[in-house]
Amino acid sequence: MNYKIVRLNTAAKSDITSSVLIIYTGGTLGMAYDDSGALVPFNFGQILEKVPSLTQMNIAITVISFPEPIDSSNVNMNHWVDMAYIIYENYDSYDGFVILHGTDTMAYSASMLSYMLQGLSKPVIFTGAQLPISAMRSDARENLMTSLEIATAKANGKPIVPEVCIFFNHMLLRGNRSKKVQSVHFDAFESENYPALAESGIVIDYNYAAITPFEEGARLKYFNKLDNHVLVLKLFPGITAEVLQSCLAIKDLKGVILETYGSGNSPSESWFLETLEEAVGRGIIILNVSQCNGGRVIQGRYQTSKDLLRIGVLSGGDITTEAAVTKMMFLLGSGLSDAEIRRKLVKPIAGEMSLAGFL
Ligand code: ASP
Repeated sequence: MNYKIVRLNTAAKSDITSSVLIIYTGGTLGMAYDDSGALVPFNFGQILEKVPSLTQMNIAITVISFPEPIDSSNVNMNHWVDMAYIIYENYDSYDGFVILHGTDTMAYSASMLSYMLQGLSKPVIFTGAQLPISAMRSDARENLMTSLEIATAKANGKPIVPEVCIFFNHMLLRGNRSKKVQSVHFDAFESENYPALAESGIVIDYNYAAITPFEEGARLKYFNKLDNHVLVLKLFPGITAEVLQSCLAIKDLKGVILETYGSGNSPSESWFLETLEEAVGRGIIILNVSQCNGGRVIQGRYQTSKDLLRIGVLSGGDITTEAAVTKMMFLLGSGLSDAEIRRKLVKPIAGEMSLAGFL
């Protein structure tokens, strides 16, 4: 891999205790306006000019930049493998990692990395911005500076947040519980089904009870096999048999995230259920997630979800669509048997869903 590596000239002395690796992938934070007025990613070398306060930090900072920074709408499985690999390769050399990433797909990337990097004992913090770092009112500086602080934060000599998170607009959220919910305001992310891991104000207030505890002697495991033969199928009133059948007939389709209504409800018409049942019979794995941001799928609560349970649709509980589709890609790529994949889909593997009440 041909990455650009920049060592920032910060105030870090030889007796520094903290070091961070920033992985710059692109996104609005590092964008500038081109001649036509559209935002395009720029190279990270100029960052010190834009954030002079970085030079005052007593943290040794290294930046690895994607050779071609991307708008995160272009993120794909190769980028995820690259991000995870950079962390894996450099894991022992840094106290923490900050990934600068576009907001549009940040929740997908953070979810995927939480599966690809298991046994973490160091923070991996995704952040970005709604306005480019060069804009007067940019949120980029605060997001970046606080992410660096969180990435190096320790209590009793141990990292406080040994998990993959998103820090944005004063909130630290578990990455695989997050969702982009705002495209204009600064409070772009929410985690409806899991409490914030920290809130930053005058101090950073950590919610220790919600953070995955540091595990002494944990060893990082890196997984890089993913499979994108998946589909997210969002139900809507008026969906036709033709649409459903065509989607489920896609060649080599292996997994479907079925976005249902409310607590996991779907039409109860026979054509609908028979089409799904036939797909399940062909070995397609279907995971039921709710279109609601909060709450959970409870198959069997209403008659309209009881049938899904009967035909072998799995319950995603309170997982987000972002965490569900990446989990499906991760598990399908894992080489596990179908039965094992089904078992893992309905249980948390990286804190992405709650344990209570699987149906
Ligand atoms: N389109 C941008 C991206 O996701 C938006 C952002 O960074 O906020 O890369």
